[in-house]
Amino acid sequence: SPAVHVVGAGLAGSEAAHQIARAGVPVVLHEMRPVRGTEAHKTDGFAELVCSNSFRSDDWENNAVGLLHEEMRRAGSLIMAAGDEHKLPAGGALAVDRDAFSAEVTARLSENPLVTVVRGEIDGLPPADWTNVIIATGPLTSPALSTALARLTGEESLAFFDAIAPVIHRDSIDTTIAWFQSRYDKAGPGGTGADYLNCPMTKPEYEAFVDALLAGEKTSFKEWEASTPYFDGCLPVEVMAERGRDTLRYGPMKPVGLDDPRTGRWPYAVVQLRQDNALGTLWNMVGFQTKLKHAEQVRVFRTIPGLQNAEFARLGGLHRNTYLNSPKLLDRSLRLKAEPRLRFAGQITGVEGYVESAAMGLLAGRFAAADALGYQTDAPPATTALGALLNHITGGHLVSEEEERSSARSFQPMNVNYGLLPDLAQAPTHDRNGARLKGPERGREKKRAMSRRAIADLTRWLDSATSNAIRQSA
Ligand code: FAD
Repeated sequence: SPAVHVVGAGLAGSEAAHQIARAGVPVVLHEMRPVRGTEAHKTDGFAELVCSNSFRSDDWENNAVGLLHEEMRRAGSLIMAAGDEHKLPAGGALAVDRDAFSAEVTARLSENPLVTVVRGEIDGLPPADWTNVIIATGPLTSPALSTALARLTGEESLAFFDAIAPVIHRDSIDTTIAWFQSRYDKAGPGGTGADYLNCPMTKPEYEAFVDALLAGEKTSFKEWEASTPYFDGCLPVEVMAERGRDTLRYGPMKPVGLDDPRTGRWPYAVVQLRQDNALGTLWNMVGFQTKLKHAEQVRVFRTIPGLQNAEFARLGGLHRNTYLNSPKLLDRSLRLKAEPRLRFAGQITGVEGYVESAAMGLLAGRFAAADALGYQTDAPPATTALGALLNHITGGHLVSEEEERSSARSFQPMNVNYGLLPDLAQAPTHDRNGARLKGPERGREKKRAMSRRAIADLTRWLDSATSNAIRQSA
């Protein structure tokens, strides 16, 4: 079969190349470093970790990223094998010796007879005679390529910053205070007129909140981030607060058309939350992108009435990040609908993190190999961490067109978390010994049950026809 071309030998591209070669398909791996660098990479090694050296929790039974580790190991991941081989003591986390890790990945790929490494930038759309391509050029995709991609997908479909608002677990929001209502009960297409959860504030509460935003400790932009000119559309809340005491009240905290059922009136200000996943388990704080430090976000946002016990699935942030509006642009196997010879993987698909990026490389690699071998591609089940992440970025969990549209509108990069997995048919109420579970224990038992379900379903998927075919041709 003709070679698959993989562009970018980062976390995703390296994993993709490994999976393709593992299936017996030749692969050409293009990496621009050291010919051309990025603002964050320092070496010419593959799978360089640009910041922390941690793959986060390695606990597969109790933590979603730990579960993703385990699924990837079972799917023969190179990133996980090299990580395990060069791990450092870090409690329950998987931290790695970054240089040894990167050297291992580089060596394993360079020595593989099915892998050809080409050092050089792909500075526009890949040549038309490359019929099976994976683009895995990451959050710092070179400008020449990102400009070409923006032209192909439409400017508004490629973001250069992620302006992330915090996402909260629905069951931690106090609905005796927060109420469901859309502004002026407007239903909009596909809406019910009660699509938002509203947290009301009195004048003193609003004033205290603005003060807390102004005083809160912030993370600063790196110099090269601050000079990237795409930033005005997504101002952080604390910057809006700096512009005037009422700026937020006329912006994202506008209370008009929202009747607090406890007073029958519009509150002084309001924080709105909007459903963030089709399951309804996650809700995001509308317009609340922020550069407040994580601990400060938890402290300050828990002063919002109704959010006093909020559990955050992810905290807000604002970083330089090139990523596609994937739910709109990509099909279920990560191919660009408009040009299916181009497949995407890694952070550019709108996942966030080393492990998540490598995970999407793993899937893209398997899908590309299946295409090269002429096999039907089947996606991992939605109950697995791999399948849930894939669904998040391709919109595979959505049923109606309106849901797809609304998910494409609000698409933001995401770490893996249990909120992306479908709920259990029945939540556990008793432990293995038959003792009744209390609140927090029940939550822990539920995660364990979801993890066990994921591994069982993944095992079935790995044993399925396509996977077997891929394994046998290896
Ligand atoms: P990368 O690992 O960046 O790989 C992309 C590769 O493509 C690079 O090697 C690049 O040189 C190459 N490339 C780019 N353009 C071209 C081109 N035109 N032609 C050929 N090659 C090209 N995640 C975490 O989990 N923990 C962290 O601590 C963390 N810190 C981060 C800090 C920064 C500053 C940034 C930007 C991101 C951080 N991330 C972090 C997020 C993300 O997980 C990593 O960036 C991760 O490396 C993404 O994997 P990837 O394979 O998609 O991209």
